[in-house]
Formats: sequence, C-alpha cells, structure tokens
Amino acid sequence: MYDFIVVGAGPAGSRFARAAAERDHGVLVLESGAIGEPLACSGHVSLDVWAFVPETARERLHQNDIYGARFHLGGADSRAYPFYKETVVSNAIDRVGLDRTLAECARDAGAEVREQHTVTAVTEGSDRATVTANGPDGTEQFAAKVVCGADGPRSKVRSQVGLPEPDELLHGVLGFEPTPDSQDFVDVHLTVPGFFAWRIPRGEAGAEYGLAVSPGDDAPARFEALVEDYGVDIERRCSGAIPIGPPDRTVSERTFLLGDAAGQTKPFTGGGILYGMRAADVAARVLDPDRRSTLYRYEHAWRDELARDQRLGRLIRAGYSLPKPVQRAGMAAFAGEIGVHMDRPSTLFSVDQLRAMAPWR
Ligand SMILES: Cc1cc2nc3c(=O)[nH]c(=O)nc-3n(C[C@H](O)[C@H](O)[C@H](O)COP(=O)(O)OP(=O)(O)OC[C@H]3O[C@@H](n4cnc5c(N)ncnc54)[C@H](O)[C@@H]3O)c2cc1C
Repeated sequence: MYDFIVVGAGPAGSRFARAAAERDHGVLVLESGAIGEPLACSGHVSLDVWAFVPETARERLHQNDIYGARFHLGGADSRAYPFYKETVVSNAIDRVGLDRTLAECARDAGAEVREQHTVTAVTEGSDRATVTANGPDGTEQFAAKVVCGADGPRSKVRSQVGLPEPDELLHGVLGFEPTPDSQDFVDVHLTVPGFFAWRIPRGEAGAEYGLAVSPGDDAPARFEALVEDYGVDIERRCSGAIPIGPPDRTVSERTFLLGDAAGQTKPFTGGGILYGMRAADVAARVLDPDRRSTLYRYEHAWRDELARDQRLGRLIRAGYSLPKPVQRAGMAAFAGEIGVHMDRPSTLFSVDQLRAMAPWR
C-alpha cells in the first residue's frame, strides 16, 4: 500500500509528490494523459517560480521578461495605463516544459509517476483508500493511506468523495500568434464581464491573446472579437476552466484536494501555478499518512497560507466591474511605478508600495 496516491501530475500534484517522496513516503502519481498536455494555461508567473525548479531548467523554460502591465478600459487602440517596476516582475515560461520538469523532480525524489492512467473512482475505507484507474493494461486498482486530488478544476476525486465545488468556474480561451515578441509589458483589457482579456509577449514563442469569462458569456465569440481588434491571425488555440473561490471543505476521510481542485488560485487573475505549489509544500509539511487527523491540519494550514492574498484578490477583482468613470479615475490615480508583488496582493499595503505611490517619488 502506498502512503499517498496523487491524482494528476500538474504543478500542484508533482510538487506535492516530490516533497512527500523527499520525506521518505511511498508515493504513486497517476496522470490521465501525457504530462503537460493539452496546454490550457498562459504560463505567466512571478519570479517565485524559480524556487520550485532546478537551476539547470531555467534557461530552457524561460521565454520572456515582463516589467509590468498596460491596463486598458477599451480595445487595442485605447489609452494605456501602465503599472510597472524598474526590475523584472514576472516571466512568460514554457508551461508544458514546467510540468515535465516538476514531474521529473518528483521521479528523482523517488515517486512513481504513471502517465496514461485515468482515475475513474475513489473509495475511502477504514484502513485504506482505493483508487480505480483505466490504463494501457485495462482497469487497475491501487491502495493508499491517503489520496491527493490534484486533478484540476473539474476534479474527479472531488466529486468521488463528495467534496463541494469551487464558487465559480470561469471559461478561459487563449491562442498564439507566432511572430517573435519580446516587449516588456503585458496588455490587460477590462472589456469582458467580470474579468479581463490579455496579450502576453512570449519572446521567440510569439504573442499570446486570451480572456476568461463566466460560462454563459460566450468566451469563443469574445476571443474572436479580441484578435480581430488586434488584427492578428491565430495559429493555435486552446481553452480551460479557471476555478475562483475555494470549496468550503477540501478534505474528507482519507482524501485532500490540492491546486485547482481546491480552488487555490488568485481571484483577480485566475493564476494558480504558484498558489498550488505553495499549498503542496504546506501539505507535505503537515500531513502524516498514518494520522488522519493531520488532514484537518492541512485544511487550516493551506487557508492560513493563502487566505489573506485570496481575500484581497477578490477585492481587486471587484474593481473589474466598477463603472468605467470610476475605473478611469482609479487608473489615472494609481498608474506608474508599483511595489506590489503579483502573487501577494497583501504587498499592496507594504512600505515598498506606499513608497512607490508617494507623490515625491
Ligand atoms: C486560459 C488559462 C490561462 C491561465 N494562465 C495562467 C497563468 O498565466 N499563470 C498561472 O499561474 N496560472 C494560469 N492558469 C491557471 C493554471 O493553469 C492552473 O492554476 C494550474 O494549472 C493548476 O495546477 P494543478 O496542478 O492544480 O492542476 P492542472 O495543471 O490542471 O493539473 C491537473 C492534472 O490532472 C490530470 N487529471 C485530470 N483528471 C484526471 C483523472 N481523472 N485521472 C488522472 N489524472 C487526471 C490532468 O491531465 C492534469 O495533468 C491559467 C488557466 C487557464 C484556463
């Protein structure tokens, strides 16, 4: 019997698998497809990401340095309100490569990682959890003391053990235009209901266009309007769900949810790569597979880690729906150099940020 079975080899699952294996736990990871595919993510992350991957992978994964964002209240030709730092704020990275690298780290630490294994059922018993998966050799069953549901926004594990859903699942669409683009700024358009559309320069990989909206708000049609406005031809497009607002409970008898499955995302961007990996480190630190009560420690500990930033993130997102004149006044007042860390909106109230906003700067 394994100590942990991790369902899903995305950033959250692989990070947890690595950290648990490094603590000498027996870990099996089951991934439904090939790791990293299909792509459904911008891979736009703060520099914190580099703490989670080996130094040797950095050059391979890095695509472009970003210094800030130009906010727009209209389309491609509308006035831009720049928010920036003098130093690099974030990177566009190869997201497929990131997933492969993290899974490799888990393997190197001793975790067994099996691709092409789709988990179809999870049952929780008094002495074990049983995980059923369809793989190349047919249906197989595996036993573990604890199951980690790191299987993304539409988590099968979550529904199997009867845990509640996140508050919202936005529909994100993105596409790529291949002309190399190494600009310093991403563009953010507050032109779709309740969220935003974006353009990300990705260096040699070209430029990415995307947006996210509620499922009823026709993301594909809005995406077509966005790329038409920019006058670009999109070569490759993809889509995915973005959970916003964690479920009320993320643990059951022998199972815990992690990453998107647990709604561990930034409410104002939908970004979840770093929040999921931070929560994975919390899980590895507090969970003891022989003591089920530690699942409840995890429930509190990951919320303690992310709650403040998620709360402030919700407030920032509310700003996307303010009347245009209020948004215009706010942008004009706050545009310029910023001190805030993109994964930690709580730094909005830091000394660095106040200094950046001071009139004498
Ligand atoms: C359009 C879009 C753009 C985004 N852009 C960004 C961004 O720029 N920056 C950022 O930080 N975040 C971004 N995100 C969010 C980010 O992609 C997620 O937060 C992140 O992938 C969550 O990681 P995870 O490991 O929890 O889940 P995932 O990455 O979704 O991994 C889950 C894994 O589980 C596997 N799986 C699913 N079901 C099963 C099953 N039944 N059995 C076995 N395996 C299964 C899947 O194949 C997958 O590999 C974006 C999301 C979207 C949709």
